[in-house]
Amino acid sequence: MDETTDPELTSWVDVPPGSHFPIQNLPFGVAARSDGKHFITSAIGNHVLDLSELERRGVFSTTPLAGKNVFQSASLNQFMALGRDSWKAVRATVSHLLQADNPAIRDNGELRKSALIPASEVQMVMPVEIGDYTDFYSSKEHATNVGTMFRGADNALMPNWLHLPVAYHGRASSVVVSGTPIHRPSGQTLPEGAEAPQFGESRVLDFELEMGFFIGPPGELGEPISVSDAADHIFGMVLVNDWSARDIQKWEYQPLGPFLAKNFGTTISPWIVTMEALEPFSCAGPEQTPEPLPHLRSEGKRTFDIELEVQLSPEGSDATTISRGNFNTLYWDICQQLAHHTVTGCNVRTGDLLASGTISGSAPVSRGSMLELTWMGKEPLKLSDGEERKFLQDGDSVTMTGWCEGDGYRVGFGECAGTILPANEV
Ligand code: MN
Repeated sequence: MDETTDPELTSWVDVPPGSHFPIQNLPFGVAARSDGKHFITSAIGNHVLDLSELERRGVFSTTPLAGKNVFQSASLNQFMALGRDSWKAVRATVSHLLQADNPAIRDNGELRKSALIPASEVQMVMPVEIGDYTDFYSSKEHATNVGTMFRGADNALMPNWLHLPVAYHGRASSVVVSGTPIHRPSGQTLPEGAEAPQFGESRVLDFELEMGFFIGPPGELGEPISVSDAADHIFGMVLVNDWSARDIQKWEYQPLGPFLAKNFGTTISPWIVTMEALEPFSCAGPEQTPEPLPHLRSEGKRTFDIELEVQLSPEGSDATTISRGNFNTLYWDICQQLAHHTVTGCNVRTGDLLASGTISGSAPVSRGSMLELTWMGKEPLKLSDGEERKFLQDGDSVTMTGWCEGDGYRVGFGECAGTILPANEV
């Protein structure tokens, strides 16, 4: 096992019980100071560790990062492009510096003050320049639920679904970081029973509980990335909320798939949890029957045990937990997704985001969208303040969280949150 994931490791920085950021996690993100300056950082307990400051002081001069100044950037792209040897070297260095018995920062008051900052004093911002965003549809339970609602139980899964990870090319420009409000979109819809479409604000606004992964070293145009090589191109993972306007989607989606129903906003959590941190929580995925064609075959512990929760809070009210699931229920794994994406020779670039699709499990509580939780609005959710919801209302906040449960600690993703604002005038 990688020594940075040893469950026995402790830090001289206080890590409160239940924190998502023990020394075994060490995620990467970008924070903004009150003066607006952005800097690359890691997280430990309730603090952020300024990696740009450590780099300026030569902390990484014995790693493959020496002389590259990748942490002086306002995004992680340069660092992500370097590949796993560099990621591991930085992780090992940061882990050592934060270990309980290491005095290098702990006992250097001046360095400690400039590099270790209370998380409450910074704002997390978009960590990556995202060139392209792709959204998969890899939960069999989600695809079956949606297919049953729209086409009936006999035709729930399309004939291709068990043979390839279905996806569409999404919109990167509107991917935003947790905390960014989302305006209710307007568009065309065809109301039930109407003969002509109408234009107006979406009345069937939804979230989708997803996770996504970021591309590190790029692929080359014309050269597929195989399932077995895919992991070398994957830097880490985040939580994703793929906000969806179901009424717009229903009218526009055939034959080319979602367009305006999804392009008004996609929210990600600010911390990228690396594959090194997730490795101890790897596990088998669902059995795949029929066996995939050879170019999509994947073996062993091909996914991760990541517990997921969604909370809904009406404006001014307490949160109600409305969904509890696990990333490990997804049918197609991330290496299969990347292999499929590139099998034509499509090149992926550093910073591209590939999302899982809505994550729904077999239990009703694990459904990852309002569409499924309320079965198209037929079974409204009861919230803790006595209100009911079929779909999202203005002022509603949706907060997703996820974590891997270790023995006495959690390797977590923090939060992916957003609030719905009223539609803008068109
Ligand atoms: Mn989606």
